Amino acid sequence: MWHQRADVVVVGTGVAGLVAALAAHRRGRKVVVLSKAADTATFYAQGGIAVVLPDTDDSIDAHVADTIAAGAGLCDADAVRSIVADGYRAVRELVDDGARFDEAEPGRWSLTREGGHSRRRIIHSGGDATGAEVQRALDHAGATLDIRRNHVALQILQSGGAVTGVQVLNEDGPGIVHAPSVVLATGGLGHLYSATTNPEGSTGDGIALALWAGVPISDVEFIQFHPTMLFDGHASGRRPLITEAVRGEGGILLDRQGNSITRGIHPMGDLAPRDVVAAAIDARLRETGDPCAYLDARAITDFDRRFPTVTAACRAAGIDPTSQPIPVVPGAHYSCGGVVTDVYGRTDLAGLFAAGEVARTGMHGANRLASNSLLEGLVVGGRAGRAAAQHANDAAPAHAELGDVETRVALPRNKLQRAMSTYASVVRDADGLQQLARELEAADPRDLDGRASFEDVALTTTACAVTAAALARNESRGCHHRSDFPDTDPALAHSQVFAAACC
Ligand SMILES: Cc1cc2nc3c(=O)[nH]c(=O)nc-3n(C[C@H](O)[C@H](O)[C@H](O)COP(=O)(O)OP(=O)(O)OC[C@H]3O[C@@H](n4cnc5c(N)ncnc54)[C@H](O)[C@@H]3O)c2cc1C
Repeated sequence: MWHQRADVVVVGTGVAGLVAALAAHRRGRKVVVLSKAADTATFYAQGGIAVVLPDTDDSIDAHVADTIAAGAGLCDADAVRSIVADGYRAVRELVDDGARFDEAEPGRWSLTREGGHSRRRIIHSGGDATGAEVQRALDHAGATLDIRRNHVALQILQSGGAVTGVQVLNEDGPGIVHAPSVVLATGGLGHLYSATTNPEGSTGDGIALALWAGVPISDVEFIQFHPTMLFDGHASGRRPLITEAVRGEGGILLDRQGNSITRGIHPMGDLAPRDVVAAAIDARLRETGDPCAYLDARAITDFDRRFPTVTAACRAAGIDPTSQPIPVVPGAHYSCGGVVTDVYGRTDLAGLFAAGEVARTGMHGANRLASNSLLEGLVVGGRAGRAAAQHANDAAPAHAELGDVETRVALPRNKLQRAMSTYASVVRDADGLQQLARELEAADPRDLDGRASFEDVALTTTACAVTAAALARNESRGCHHRSDFPDTDPALAHSQVFAAACC
């Protein structure tokens, strides 16, 4: 067993992790950054970052109102305002770290619009390659950081109600990084499902790590399905996304017969919030038996220049988006819930912080508004890094010890993904969720002998939490749609919190 020491351990090298690590490092702390995978969701972000720019017709009030409307009664209004109001400052900091955004004219950023936004307020880069630019800039700024690749965080260690470090697995085997502050920035959980827009490392690790440490999680039933994941005949793994900005620029959603899918469903039509559009597509596909819907973007001028990433993904699948409609299906995309934190990333456990997609700050409620996640990662990542640095400064030196580890169980990954895709997808019902719970109960004990087995265990723990939360919410709200409870129940306008693994 190897041992190392740090003031702050950051788990994750996406937007939230690198911004947190840089913030703690710039406060003079010894920071160790762990990453298990080469890819991040951050790299794949397309549409952009929602931010209110000064000297425009936009306002913090308008962005807050749009975010809260999408969140369907579960946003924490103070958290939303705090994060939105800090957005422009955080974006300027990213620019100081080297990020560049597309300009409409020299000195003025080009703004696009996405579903649920009442204004054009999305800044973007390289057309539809915003995440790649954010990642490039942060990787470059983070070159001075101590980043350990192929290191998997297995367990948060604690003693006397405070964090003492992280148990880690690398090529030398298991070890411990002793530290008084740990920031979880582990991203999402898309690989609970057979097909997802998420990179291969998005296996819900942070939620599982929190639950095993007895730290509350919330709102995990709210998994956003992006309405337009490219349908290229492949049904598993990471699938390319067709950014919502394509609809923002005039792309329209049609069924195979050429009928609009969203007409009469919502006043914002194809730019309605994502859950509405995804559920409309799901319903139309069930009704017609068609395998996919179509996004007709042929009327958009200069499509390939404005959307080079989408164009490349379509062409790789043998589709020319400038001359034919793009086949699409809804795909698992974003976890609105996660580890409960305040807007500084603080969890219930002293010394444990969380930021980015793994965290539940109250910003997204029951449904995230498009392009609000990079914003949240930037703002809360920075705050969590500063808070973790401060905590490390104030806390006694940490000495971590491995306690007794409970037996961990896992379903084989394919089986778990099939069950989640069948029973806990865009639309759920009690019968299906109960069947899913029974399948999860059959999970067998699994040794944590490598990254894959750890991920299987994390996926199973996270799936159990999602299933329990989805079963307990007997209503439809935000991106949680129950066919047996199609209406929203005003009596259920509150978040559910879980503080222990249920399998
Ligand atoms: C295709 C796509 C397009 C998107 N487009 C947009 C957009 O336009 N605008 C927007 O705001 N949002 C968008 N999103 C969402 C947004 O990109 C993500 O929510 C955000 O980037 C998440 O950042 P993060 O730092 O929390 O996690 P990530 O960027 O996913 O990083 C997670 C990190 O944690 C590491 N990790 C995980 N578990 C462990 C472990 N156990 N041990 C060690 N390391 C671990 C991973 O290796 C990785 O380094 C998009 C997402 C996708 C998938």
